[in-house]
Amino acid sequence: MGTVSDWKLPWEAGCRCGQIRMRVTEAPLLASACHCSGCQRMSASAFSLTLTIPKTGFEVVSGTPVKGGLQKDVPHFHCPHCKSWVFTRPGDGEEFPFVNLRATMLDDARWFQPYIETWANEKLPWANTGAARSYGTQPDYDEYEALIGEYHAQGARP
Ligand SMILES: [Zn+2]
Ligand SMILES: [Zn+2]
Repeated sequence: MGTVSDWKLPWEAGCRCGQIRMRVTEAPLLASACHCSGCQRMSASAFSLTLTIPKTGFEVVSGTPVKGGLQKDVPHFHCPHCKSWVFTRPGDGEEFPFVNLRATMLDDARWFQPYIETWANEKLPWANTGAARSYGTQPDYDEYEALIGEYHAQGARP
């Protein structure tokens, strides 16, 4: 089991143009890739990359992210200038006390590796992420606790 220091926190992150700057001060719950067609469009790529961070460990330190995507249901936030898709807040209430940071916003993202992948049913045939666990859609809600435990057991930042 890793210790907090294994994650080499804090992490600094930013959008393409640098107007949005972010800081992560708590270990991620999970690292994932999503192959859904919505993520393919928003990322202009084969899949999106996510670090799920506790809300209390995530801070926007400069700039004002604006909503993008479908602008309803799940709030996706973007830089108002360069339009980078920087993070998603799945619900504003206590039900989802975390933020999904797009992993490639990190100043150093080279260590990142997805532990799970979701929506493999919609993936481009060649698009392989190397994730340990693959789901056609999403894990059941009650599977997340075990997945977080597995990720922390093996997945601390190398
Ligand atoms: Zn920007
Ligand atoms: Zn997706």
